[in-house]
Amino acid sequence: MHKVGVLALQGASKRHAEALAALGACPVEVRTPEDLADIEGIILPGGESTTMSKLLDLAGLFEPLADRLREGMPAFGTCAGMILLSARILDGRADQRCFGVLDVDVRRNAFGRQVDSFEAEVAVDRLPGGGFPAVFIRAPVIERVGEEVEVLSSVDGLPVLCRQGPVLAAAFHPELSDDLRLHQLFLED
Ligand code: GLN
Repeated sequence: MHKVGVLALQGASKRHAEALAALGACPVEVRTPEDLADIEGIILPGGESTTMSKLLDLAGLFEPLADRLREGMPAFGTCAGMILLSARILDGRADQRCFGVLDVDVRRNAFGRQVDSFEAEVAVDRLPGGGFPAVFIRAPVIERVGEEVEVLSSVDGLPVLCRQGPVLAAAFHPELSDDLRLHQLFLED
C-alpha cells in the first residue's frame, strides 16, 4: 500500500500521518468523500467516536466510506477508530454509528477506568522484536469476538489488538509510541 488515508475529521490523525510517511507511504488526510478517490487503505484514529460518527454524517462521508470498507479496503482503527469499525457499541450514544466490518462488540471507556490512561508493554503474536509499548487512553474493551476475528494481543485476558481479513484494530494508540511496527504490519497487507 502506498497512498493511505487518515481520517482527519477529529482526533489524533497527525501522528498517524507521520508514522506512515516515516515508513515511506503517502498519507492522505480524509475529510470529504472526494478524498477517498485514490486511497488504497485508511487509518481511523483515536479521538471521540461519538463526535467522529456525527462528523462523518455531516461530511457525507459515512456511506461512501462504508461502501469502500465493505468492498474490502484495508483499514486500521485505533481506539475510537476501532469503535467505528466494530459491529456493535454496547454503550454508545443512541445516534452513534459504526461500520460493522470488524465482528466485535465494544464497550467505550471501559479499560483502566480507575486511571483513565496507562501504558503497558503488550505481547503481540507474530510481531518480531518483542512487546509493543501500548498507550491506552479511555480505551474501549472488546466484550465479544466473532469467529472470523483473530486476536493478536490481549491484556488481562481482554483482546486489545485484533484482525479480521483486511481490518486491523487496536484498543490503544500505536501512533503515540515511536514504535512503527504495527503501522508497518498494516502497510504490508
Ligand atoms: N473514549 C473514546 C470514545 O469513546 C475513545 C478514546 C480514544 O480514542 N482515545 O470514542
